[in-house]
Amino acid sequence: MTRSTLEFITCPKCNHQSGFTAYQSINATLAPELKQKIVDWELYKFSCLNCGEPRFVYYETLYHDMEHRLMLYYVPAMANREREQIKMEDVFSQIKQVEGDRYSNSFDTYNFRIVSDMEAFIEKVQIFDAGYDDRLVELMKFILAPKEEEDIQFSYDHMVFTKVGDDRYQFMFIYEKRAVASLKFSEEMYEHFQSEYSGLLDDSYFVDEAWAYGTIARG
Ligand SMILES: [Zn+2]
Repeated sequence: MTRSTLEFITCPKCNHQSGFTAYQSINATLAPELKQKIVDWELYKFSCLNCGEPRFVYYETLYHDMEHRLMLYYVPAMANREREQIKMEDVFSQIKQVEGDRYSNSFDTYNFRIVSDMEAFIEKVQIFDAGYDDRLVELMKFILAPKEEEDIQFSYDHMVFTKVGDDRYQFMFIYEKRAVASLKFSEEMYEHFQSEYSGLLDDSYFVDEAWAYGTIARG
């Protein structure tokens, strides 16, 4: 279920107070317009009603995609050491509180994930929305990433899975928060990874580059 509260935020520029809707939980299947706002970087954007000054307001959100069986918990600006302190039982009880008994018996096959930055949040929303497994996508990024600087004509910090147009996807190379290049994502490539790596996938809550590294190292 989607749950929100109205907050009042004081503009840092003109001190005017404006209302802002904060979503503690989002059911993306029942409220697809909110999913789209996340993907468009709009949901966490606040604009002052007086002077128009825009800023981002980040807060914890539980994102639920019923269709693709995803429970994605966005906890902004979480440090690595704080990860271990998140008690998943607390998260589960929050989920049950929010979703009621409707889903409690069918959580077994759910994908539970935690992300701490907005880019990763949006990426996972898009991966699951497309019907893909984020673990395979992370392995693709890790293995397909050019490792030697001589191989490419640009520098980059990381890659991110992104939707382009209505039904195409690509990996964007991000450097200092800007996209500097892209790599085509194909269904064939994904299926290849699916047949090669499905046996390596575990039930981690944190599926990111570090997870991919650890998984390949162990595999
Ligand atoms: Zn203002």
